[in-house]
Amino acid sequence: MVHVLPKIDSTTYRPVLETAGEEVLAGCRCAECGGEAFRLTKRWVKRGLRRLQGDGPGVIAVRQAVCRRCKHCERVHPLDVLPGKTASVELPLAVVEARQCPGATVSAVSHRFGVARATVRNWEQGLATRYLDLQELTRHRALLASAETPTTAVKRVRRAVVAEIERTSQIASTRFVADPRRTDEEERREALRLLLELTKSLGGAHGAADVGAARFRQAVSGSRRSSSCSRA
Ligand SMILES: [Zn+2]
Repeated sequence: MVHVLPKIDSTTYRPVLETAGEEVLAGCRCAECGGEAFRLTKRWVKRGLRRLQGDGPGVIAVRQAVCRRCKHCERVHPLDVLPGKTASVELPLAVVEARQCPGATVSAVSHRFGVARATVRNWEQGLATRYLDLQELTRHRALLASAETPTTAVKRVRRAVVAEIERTSQIASTRFVADPRRTDEEERREALRLLLELTKSLGGAHGAADVGAARFRQAVSGSRRSSSCSRA
């Protein structure tokens, strides 16, 4: 898990965090113990970040914060930087949207955005799958709520996110309906069309990320834990 700051994106992050006090983490909770008091450490961690308006791969340094109660350490991210991902939140959605245009081949979109063809395909496949996962989660939310004991912060956040998306968005009215007459490619394209519609209803990629940051102050990394904080 990482802390995510609303209203602060990767373009304004560095100067704000260089001078910020602990109040910048108001509303954040420790993923380990639920504590709400943190200390910003002097440690900055570099990680890759490719922006929509960037000129190729870049790097951003993110600051770490430590829980005052249990000493658990988490990174502090701007709203557009996803944990474990090297592309800003806007880039994959822009690529997928560009591919929706008739005649926009993988090669053409790959060239336009400066990303590999395999990456374009991976984002299309991955985002379509995530959208269908989200539908399944919202469909079974009532069941999950009664069956799952909220033992971990990840589960707690995931359930809260699903409930919030369902409450504030049009996902219930734009349900994906599988159609056996469609090819796999056509099914994927339909899922992505609905995902883009959902994102638009939340204010676009940047707007949706800001809404998420303001409401949850946390994001879950699917690839690694960020709990060690060796030099503070
Ligand atoms: Zn803690």
